Amino acid sequence: MDAELYDVIIIGGGPAGYTAGLYCGRAAMKTLLLEKYMAGGQMAITAHIDNYPGFPEGVDGFTLAMDMQKQAERFQIEHKEVAVASVQLDGTVKAITTADGTVYRARAVILATGASPRELGLPEERDLRGKGVSYCATCDGAFFRNKTVAVIGGGDTAAADAIYLSKLCKQVYLVHRRDALRAAAVYHDALQQAENVTFVWNSTVEEILHDSVVTGIRVKDKLTGDMQNLECQGVFVAVGTAPNTKLYEDQVQLDGNGYIISDENTKTSQLGVFAAGDVRTKPLRQVVTAVADGAVAAYMAEEYIQLQTVESE
Ligand code: NAP
Repeated sequence: MDAELYDVIIIGGGPAGYTAGLYCGRAAMKTLLLEKYMAGGQMAITAHIDNYPGFPEGVDGFTLAMDMQKQAERFQIEHKEVAVASVQLDGTVKAITTADGTVYRARAVILATGASPRELGLPEERDLRGKGVSYCATCDGAFFRNKTVAVIGGGDTAAADAIYLSKLCKQVYLVHRRDALRAAAVYHDALQQAENVTFVWNSTVEEILHDSVVTGIRVKDKLTGDMQNLECQGVFVAVGTAPNTKLYEDQVQLDGNGYIISDENTKTSQLGVFAAGDVRTKPLRQVVTAVADGAVAAYMAEEYIQLQTVESE
């Protein structure tokens, strides 16, 4: 029997995906949203978001994620928590196969799978995940209450993680490979004021020290070549993100870093396929730009479907 035909399938339930869902639902398009874990993506594990308009005191990412999901589902979109195993994005009817072997078909697809934290690439890093190495301060910070931790990186995530952890932990080392943070200025004062945050500038992590769990890191001063051991029980890696595009690499054009090539209209190299949020090439990856993409992608998908319908009549 033929699988049911949706107007739009959205892959990914972060802010871009759920905003696309909201707009598709309101446009009365038959819409299915597929999400691997839970609503919100990276946003859901962000403790405090201060730069999303409409929340004068800021908002926690988990609450915002749950509310975005509820708002989209008010407009009758379907939502399934299942991983996508493969996609076929060419042609006028696209097919999405999930891990349980079900095939879903749609006229248009919105790719909103976001990005995931990058690893440092150290040999022991993967084995020590869950044994002191973490990529999510808000998820795992509580395990390190009154302990010493190191945060690696110098962007917004590293800065926000260090501030969050400074409230829980005895001591936080912020290890950055340069002598200045890339993070927004708003974080700098808070970091300077936190008495238990120690900056370790111009330094790279050469080794994660451990027995059965993390016991410290070995860092190298890039200017002098000196090595030192920092004792810590937790290592929070915050060195940026990599796009979740493995599923599509032979189906839409990606840039050299693996992001889906698309501009403000969210169109990809494949007709009827749109990319929204952190997964696509763009200058600023934030919740506010992801939701904007979601709205544009839904609008473009609707326009594409209407044109297809007219052409086939
Ligand atoms: P990011 O801005 O790409 O910063 C990554 C940091 O890690 C940089 O400081 C970089 O150093 C460093 N780094 C990269 N590779 C490294 C390596 N192999 N070893 C050591 N250090 C390494 O990533 P992010 O902080 O995760 O932020 C990602 C996006 O999310 C950004 O657009 C950010 O604005 C956004 N974000 C927003 C918020 C918010 O607005 N509330 C919160 C978190 C994240 P260099 O500086 O030398 O390149």
